[in-house]
Amino acid sequence: MLIVQKFGGTSLQGTERIQAVARTVTQTAKRGSRVVAVVSAQGSTTDDLILKAVSVNPRVTAREMDAFLSTGEQLSAGLLAMAIQAMGYPVITLTGWQAGIRTDNIYGNARILGLENDRILQELDRGNIVVVTGFQGVSALGDITTLGRGGSDTTAVALAGFLHADLCQIYTDVDGVYDKDPKLYPDAVKFDWISYEKMRRLIAGGAQVLHDRSVELAQRFGMSLEVLSSFTERPGTIVCREK
Ligand code: ADP
Ligand code: ASP
Ligand code: MG
Repeated sequence: MLIVQKFGGTSLQGTERIQAVARTVTQTAKRGSRVVAVVSAQGSTTDDLILKAVSVNPRVTAREMDAFLSTGEQLSAGLLAMAIQAMGYPVITLTGWQAGIRTDNIYGNARILGLENDRILQELDRGNIVVVTGFQGVSALGDITTLGRGGSDTTAVALAGFLHADLCQIYTDVDGVYDKDPKLYPDAVKFDWISYEKMRRLIAGGAQVLHDRSVELAQRFGMSLEVLSSFTERPGTIVCREK
């Protein structure tokens, strides 16, 4: 069984959360699955990096911005791998380019085109848990590109599709997809499952719980996603084909 698990920024904020995510990942590995963990930058890191960049140069070029922003995910990948190591499991981190995530060259909003090496599979075969930085890839020019805000979801779905994973889990700070933002509306109703089409309509209406391209890709791969909380054990929401 190959499982891709993606962890968002809030889920990785601070040492305790990093350790909690490491426990989730290692428990999955302990049950006999091969695990690819895709990480976002911690908390508000990406926003902070943008502010830092524009305070130095408000006209920063898109190429430099992408190379700079990709470091947020590298920090969280490193920390998660260290926590996994501390729990006694073999682990390796791969950046987008090391993992061979080829994109077009639209800096700041790049599209994933394919997976151009088999490094992730090699590392899984060696027995490693593989931690991959979300939100980034490499263009034909060899430049680092980023996938647009919230793009780590798309990294996870793309890897799950290309690697023929059995399961793609998107761990976040709410326990699934609701009919409206549960943080703003206490009466929001949770879906046990939701079709790709309805999910895409929700996102188009402003629900940023998933990156729009991640749902588009999942639909193209015919792959179900599970959106669930990294803070509770409750079952999440399955995003899948209309039943
Ligand atoms: P992550 O950092 O894990 O990627 P995001 O902030 O991108 O998390 O997405 C999760 C957030 O999406 C939730 O905290 C929630 O406030 C918001 N959200 C907006 N609309 C919805 C919805 N319809 N269902 C669930 N969450 C929603
Ligand atoms: N860190 C990036 C962002 O804040 C990507 C992501 O979180 O998915 O947009
Ligand atoms: Mg997100």
